[in-house]
Amino acid sequence: MTALRAAAAAHRRPDWIPALAELVGEANVLVELPDLWVYSRDRAPYATYHVRDAKVPATLPCAVACPADAAELAEVVRFTRQHRIPLIPFGAGSGVLGGALPLDRELMVDLKRLNAILELNETDGTVTVQAGMNGGQFEAALNRRGYTCGHLPQSLYMSTVGGWAACRGAGQNSTRFGKIEDIVIGLAAILPDGRELRVRPVARRAVGPSVRDILIGSEGVFGIITELTLRVWRLPELRLGVVLAFPSLQSGLDALRTIMQHELRPAVVRLYDREESAPRTHGIAAFAERPFLAILEFSGARRLAEVERELAMEIVAAHGGIQTDDAPYLHWQQHRYESYSPKWQTDGYAMDTIEITGPWSALPAMHERIRREVLGVCEGMHFGTHWSHVYPEGACQYMTLRLPPMPHDRMLVLHRRAWDLAERACLELGGSISHHHGAGLFRNPWLRAELGVGLELLQALKDHLDPDTLFVAGKLGLRGRPGAVDIEPTEDRP
Ligand SMILES: Cc1cc2nc3c(=O)[nH]c(=O)nc-3n(C[C@H](O)[C@H](O)[C@H](O)COP(=O)(O)OP(=O)(O)OC[C@H]3O[C@@H](n4cnc5c(N)ncnc54)[C@H](O)[C@@H]3O)c2cc1C
Repeated sequence: MTALRAAAAAHRRPDWIPALAELVGEANVLVELPDLWVYSRDRAPYATYHVRDAKVPATLPCAVACPADAAELAEVVRFTRQHRIPLIPFGAGSGVLGGALPLDRELMVDLKRLNAILELNETDGTVTVQAGMNGGQFEAALNRRGYTCGHLPQSLYMSTVGGWAACRGAGQNSTRFGKIEDIVIGLAAILPDGRELRVRPVARRAVGPSVRDILIGSEGVFGIITELTLRVWRLPELRLGVVLAFPSLQSGLDALRTIMQHELRPAVVRLYDREESAPRTHGIAAFAERPFLAILEFSGARRLAEVERELAMEIVAAHGGIQTDDAPYLHWQQHRYESYSPKWQTDGYAMDTIEITGPWSALPAMHERIRREVLGVCEGMHFGTHWSHVYPEGACQYMTLRLPPMPHDRMLVLHRRAWDLAERACLELGGSISHHHGAGLFRNPWLRAELGVGLELLQALKDHLDPDTLFVAGKLGLRGRPGAVDIEPTEDRP
């Protein structure tokens, strides 16, 4: 980490800037220090802690380029390859794993000028959109035409459609509509050598492994997504929210599992542990004996939503759950796109979230063990969990941890220790280390254990497509550049 003043003093403007400006226009190349400071971080808590201390998390970028379209972007990519300039595509910088963090004075390629809906095909039920479009604006434009894309992450208004696909994200309605990989049916991308890759949008194909899936979740390491074709759905006739109180965590988990295994598909499913239930249910009598909160939402055609609710409520009752006051549902609905962390970060806490996937059979043990181990990391640690993004075979376990204010260096070590305990326990109990935030930089230590030989396949592909390691180097568990900054805390390397 470098103090901002030192980083600014060391910054040298590259001599190729005028040539780059010829490609995208002078106004679309940013080189001033305040701009570089903004692009030196994403929303990874590690970056936030450094910003709080007026430090650059790793390096400043050398410049920022904002191409107008895929053709200009391809020219920028060919230019960077010719001059061996490392680069990072930048959507809205809402990633929380350091994917967009420059480690070697990369050129940031901001995609927000690629922000148009190209076609809404009402016959096929698809929309084609440029990758840099803001998620909130995209969804609002669809809503005006009577549609939704069904992908509604908490970060809807602070992320791009391309970023959703690049990070393999999940929206709050994923239980009904799927994750982004279930929604994207076609795409275009610029590969590291400047060629365009197109995956035509068709319902299904059977011609070898899915090339589309090499780009989805690739976080920019294999290319820059410029365009996506996604499924769209008619706006629901009805949304039915239900608030439930369960006597135990196990009864809640069993009810959700049974609902999913009975082929019901609520749009929203959220079950909270004791720590997360308590502040949301304060003053509601039903939770005195049944302290575990769950929220379900059924949506779609009125008759279908009502029948789904009725069938789900039979399952809930069989597991000891009861329906109660709507207040927690209304509160969630009202605040569903807000971020809670800035308040804590401003007050000096270290707040972070870890989202993992587990099979139903392992989730109770995963929760119990990770909770116990993470709470043991330091006095005053907060740990809370909810389960959302639910499937017939398992669910996403979303954990919030918060360290109390303490000296910065100590915080980084303890933060990393908590992560290591959570990710190791997840792997040992048969889960996956990430459900939807992606790998970025900060999950590097566990990628080998997660992917095994699969990581070598990704590295081989990377070496072939990007022999000079120019695209998003050192992320997704892949090799970095020799001179890049190492951000690992000095103690406690896993
Ligand atoms: C408060 C908050 C809530 C969040 N809630 C959710 C949630 O509910 N669900 C969820 O899935 N995530 C969530 N996230 C994480 C984050 O918003 C997502 O990962 C999002 O998809 C990132 O989009 P972005 O455009 O901001 O990407 P960036 O942060 O700009 O980039 C992320 C990574 O993708 C690469 N990238 C970006 N665009 C492209 C592209 N077009 N082609 C290739 N690579 C690209 C970047 O190089 C980087 O490696 C949340 C984050 C915050 C801060």
